[in-house]
Amino acid sequence: MSDSTSPKNPVYSHTDTNQVNKTNEEWKKLLPENVYQIAREKGTERPFTSPFETSKEVGTYYCAVCGNALFKSDTKFESGCGWPSFYEPISKNSVIYIPDSSYGMQRTEVECGRCHSHLGHVFDDGPPPTHLRYCINGVVLSFEKAKAAEDNYYKSHKDSAQ
Ligand SMILES: [Zn+2]
Repeated sequence: MSDSTSPKNPVYSHTDTNQVNKTNEEWKKLLPENVYQIAREKGTERPFTSPFETSKEVGTYYCAVCGNALFKSDTKFESGCGWPSFYEPISKNSVIYIPDSSYGMQRTEVECGRCHSHLGHVFDDGPPPTHLRYCINGVVLSFEKAKAAEDNYYKSHKDSAQ
C-alpha cells in the first residue's frame, strides 16, 4: 500500500470512456485514503502541498481515480493560489460542473466527467483565452509526461501501424 502513485483500482484507464458509477463504500476499498477523502468526500488538500502546483513538466494530467484525461500541461499556469491551476480542460466532457453553495460561498464545483469524483472548483479570474481558473487538488491528479504518453501510444498501436 506504500505505492500510492500507481493506481491499482480496476476502473483506472486512459482509454476506457465508459461512465463509472460506484458507491463510496466501493471506492473506499479501491482508493488510497488521501485520494478517497478529496475525491469522494469533497475534501481539500492543504495549499502549497502538491508537487504539481509548481511543476512545469510537459504532459497530461489525468483523474487519479479513473484515469480520465483532464488537463494538458500547456493550459496550466501559476496562479499563486496554492493549488494546481489550469485555464481549460482537455475537452468539454472531461469535467462536469456542479453549483456549490457550501461554506456560505457561491462556487462552481468541478467533478471528473467520467467517475464524478470531486476535483476542485472553477473561478472566473483566470488568464486569457478562457479567463477561467480551474483550481484543482493535486492529490486527485495523476500526471504522465508527454514522452511516456507517446511511448504508450506507439506500444498500443504497434501492430496496427505496420
Ligand atoms: Zn475520474
